[in-house]
Amino acid sequence: MPFIARQEPFVCDHCQADVAPLENGSYRNHCPKCLWSKHVDKDGPGDRASECKSLMKPVGVDYRKKKGWMIVHQCEACGKEIPNMTACDDDLTVLES
Ligand SMILES: [Zn+2]
Ligand SMILES: [Zn+2]
Repeated sequence: MPFIARQEPFVCDHCQADVAPLENGSYRNHCPKCLWSKHVDKDGPGDRASECKSLMKPVGVDYRKKKGWMIVHQCEACGKEIPNMTACDDDLTVLES
């Protein structure tokens, strides 16, 4: 069965913000307000193959030539780090404090 990225509103597990889907159709996998994510992807964005499902903390940003700025998330439970594309409404100032 082909994987289809779901565009659904969700409530952030970290700050309880209501998060709306992106209007430009990009896949959103983290909260734009606190930038926390959830460990649901195993090998790539959107595969939802991870059994972990723990909260992932934003630990930094990384610049990739092809993708632009990425937020690096680290899982609180297993320590895995995954870079994620930033969304247009992400509040990146939370990483500066
Ligand atoms: Zn949040
Ligand atoms: Zn994990």
